[in-house]
Amino acid sequence: QNAQQAAKAQVKADDRQHVFHSWSAQAKIDPLPVAGGSGSTFWDYDGNQYLDFSSQLVNLNLGHQHPRLVAAIKRQADKLATIQPAFANDVRGELARLLAERAPGELNQVFFTNGGADANEHAVRMARQHTGRRKILAAYRSYHGGTTTAMSLTGEPRRWANDPGDASVVHFFGPYAYRSAFHAASAEEETQRALEHLESVIQLEGPGTVAGIILETVVGTNGVLVPPPGYLQGVREICDRYGLVYIADEVMVGFGRIGEWFAVDAFDVVPDLLTFAKGINSGYVPLGGVLISDAIAATFAERAYPGGLTYSGHPLACAVGVETVRVFEDEAILERVRDLGERVVRPELERWAQSHPSVGEIRGRGLFWAVELVRDPQSREPLVPFNASAEAAAPMNEVAAACKAAGLWPFTHFNRVHVAPPLVISEQDLRRGLAIIDEALTIADSYVAA
Ligand code: PLP
Repeated sequence: QNAQQAAKAQVKADDRQHVFHSWSAQAKIDPLPVAGGSGSTFWDYDGNQYLDFSSQLVNLNLGHQHPRLVAAIKRQADKLATIQPAFANDVRGELARLLAERAPGELNQVFFTNGGADANEHAVRMARQHTGRRKILAAYRSYHGGTTTAMSLTGEPRRWANDPGDASVVHFFGPYAYRSAFHAASAEEETQRALEHLESVIQLEGPGTVAGIILETVVGTNGVLVPPPGYLQGVREICDRYGLVYIADEVMVGFGRIGEWFAVDAFDVVPDLLTFAKGINSGYVPLGGVLISDAIAATFAERAYPGGLTYSGHPLACAVGVETVRVFEDEAILERVRDLGERVVRPELERWAQSHPSVGEIRGRGLFWAVELVRDPQSREPLVPFNASAEAAAPMNEVAAACKAAGLWPFTHFNRVHVAPPLVISEQDLRRGLAIIDEALTIADSYVAA
């Protein structure tokens, strides 16, 4: 017990004195020292266990310490811990082949990166080199990563402090029926008007100046926005009509999060470039990449691609990627995600929409859901304002604190609670976690005007 407390004190001291944290005012944070994790749970040094309904940063798809993933790293470390990207390497090639075999259409080549942001940087670079055009269209309410161009693509407040970044990015509105930018009354109308809007933006920007469009297949952090029927197909048609590269950002929603290898499979579209990271190997070793269509790969057949990374296709990362694909198949992960999503999560969240006055809308697919909280179900005024200050965000902070006190680590963003547990979560833990959120929502209910 004393040793545990001494270890915790050291972790805290080192962290506060020397670790500079992401997105934070350094003096205002108090990071929880984590002592360990297993499957869908992690724990601190005081014996508190947390059921992880956020899968860390929605990357821990196969949970903590999956024995087969850990063994794959150890095997590869014994064999060859690193090799630079200009060589051919067995696990790097095998992972690229496994991805190409599972990806739709003619996405047959893979450029490996260290994570999601640099995957998007390279996808944009490929689109620009391929078309000879410069502008990229990206959606409001999107997150594409923390490097310069990825940050510029991002359509939410994290971009603001970093502007001007890449000045050739133009933002447009994607579909979001619950808060329609187009005053649409139905999903069909939302699709149609969102596509008309996108086409107008292209025309006003000058089609000959636009290299491509980047879209999260299901918008992740900014709301689990599932595209309405026909939208992504319409985007594909617009890209074909104007010769634009369609980039699908599947960093968060690829690899089983919505019950598909690639989220585009759920919407019957094939992009020209598809970026991935996170779930590719549950983040055990940093890895991301771009799946590239034959047509774009051909651009770089005789002409050098101007880009590279020391750790592109790192063997430790690729070895866990290969094992991830095998585990997905051996444990029938895609099937269980679809089953748990439809049989357990959807009915429970639909029940909340009836029983909690603060629940404005629920939406999602697979093991990826959002519960949008409101102060007034009629006007749909959000429970806390967009991009609220710490004080104004108090109701959301109280909901999150209640979840943590009951042993659940939630994912909250603005006025939403997301449900994004590891894909290996047991049905019992899934139900237990949902019950904790159900209870915590009574706090949100207390802010709804009578
Ligand atoms: N794209 C999407 C949709 C994401 O959700 C994220 C991270 O959350 C990224 C890109 C950036 O990935 P990374 O943090 O690995 O650079």
